[in-house]
Amino acid sequence: MSSDCSTENTTREIAPFEDAAKFHGHVCPGLTIGYIAAKAGIEKLETERDIDEELVTIVENDACGVDAVQVLTGCTIGKGNLIYKDHAKQVFTFICRDSKKAVRVALKASFNIDNIDPKVSELRPKVMSGTATDEEVKEFRERMDGISVTMRNTPVDEMFEVKFVDAKIPGKARIFNSVQCTKCGEMMAESRARVQNGEYICIPCYEEYNRGW
Ligand SMILES: [Zn+2]
Ligand SMILES: [Zn+2]
Repeated sequence: MSSDCSTENTTREIAPFEDAAKFHGHVCPGLTIGYIAAKAGIEKLETERDIDEELVTIVENDACGVDAVQVLTGCTIGKGNLIYKDHAKQVFTFICRDSKKAVRVALKASFNIDNIDPKVSELRPKVMSGTATDEEVKEFRERMDGISVTMRNTPVDEMFEVKFVDAKIPGKARIFNSVQCTKCGEMMAESRARVQNGEYICIPCYEEYNRGW
């Protein structure tokens, strides 16, 4: 298998939705948003699942969809090519280091799952608060599955804005020096160390020290 993300890949494979659902644990509209967004990004970049950090994904939320993004793109926190920005927006940017192309996929404001199935807005509060009957929980799950299917059958452009953007390409994962916390004795990357009275201290110890000040 080719390890670059060039346009010469003719064997492009996109993981089936079932793989994302298995990884995530349930089927929900959020997971489906991530699935469709990642598929759109990969297709527009004419690439495939990441093998060695050729792809970089920036996610602007930490919701269900990020799990689908990881399965489809192969970008993970562990590899350092999944970048999380806490914007609470359903926006995903897929970057190919080789072609230097970036695609931004943003959920349109017009998208609303209650328009697909109005009954879920009735069931949701009951299910979330634990007051739903078994029957209602079952119906809720079935309707979630139905919404997911409808979303996946909807033309991408109806749900998302998908466009090439200029993106700064983040550097590859770096290895930092390790230093020891003078308080708890555990090691940490130097780049994250805090300094207190001229000595290295880890973030949890530092926050404990500063609490209430
Ligand atoms: Zn979910
Ligand atoms: Zn510490």
